[in-house]
Amino acid sequence: MTFTLAIIGRPNVGKSTLFNRLVGKRLALVDDTPGVTRDLREGAARLGDLRFRVIDTAGLELVTDDSLQGRMRRLTERAIGMADACLFMIDARAGVTPSDEILADLLRRRDVPVILAANKAEGRAGEAGAVEAWALGLGEPLPLSAEHGEGMAELHARLAPLV
Ligand code: GDP
Ligand code: MG
Repeated sequence: MTFTLAIIGRPNVGKSTLFNRLVGKRLALVDDTPGVTRDLREGAARLGDLRFRVIDTAGLELVTDDSLQGRMRRLTERAIGMADACLFMIDARAGVTPSDEILADLLRRRDVPVILAANKAEGRAGEAGAVEAWALGLGEPLPLSAEHGEGMAELHARLAPLV
């Protein structure tokens, strides 16, 4: 069985940027269940010597504000159900938002391992947000920059014991 990592987080935190970095051109649309390929993107990830399946919760950006939170919960629950571990991403520059708290709540109720990533943390801009993320109760925040590729060695160190 292939280890599956689900990237969880509210819209615009950088989930797809990390997904694309991990998957490169190895994007595989494996599941042809209607709805799955549209809302959950799946790919073959590579990080150093680690090989695993990664799921991106996509499609949240397309919905209206009032339907967003319910949809975000449902889609996130589905991704968690498919995952051996979750990477929960917040935007370190924005700090912790109410949507982040909702998702953190979902994750704390499950016994899936969670890596809490504080993204957009390049150039020290995310330091305050990364410290704030401790309050989510999901362990030590991992500062990342999905766009600039910073924090990938630390992400590898977190994933290696799980994969
Ligand atoms: P998603 O909605 O969570 O999938 O987020 P996206 O991957 O689409 O990224 C949302 C926006 O954040 C885009 O404009 C990205 O270029 C930007 N972004 C993603 N990662 C980083 C990062 O590490 N640093 C900065 N500064 N911006 C980022
Ligand atoms: Mg996305």
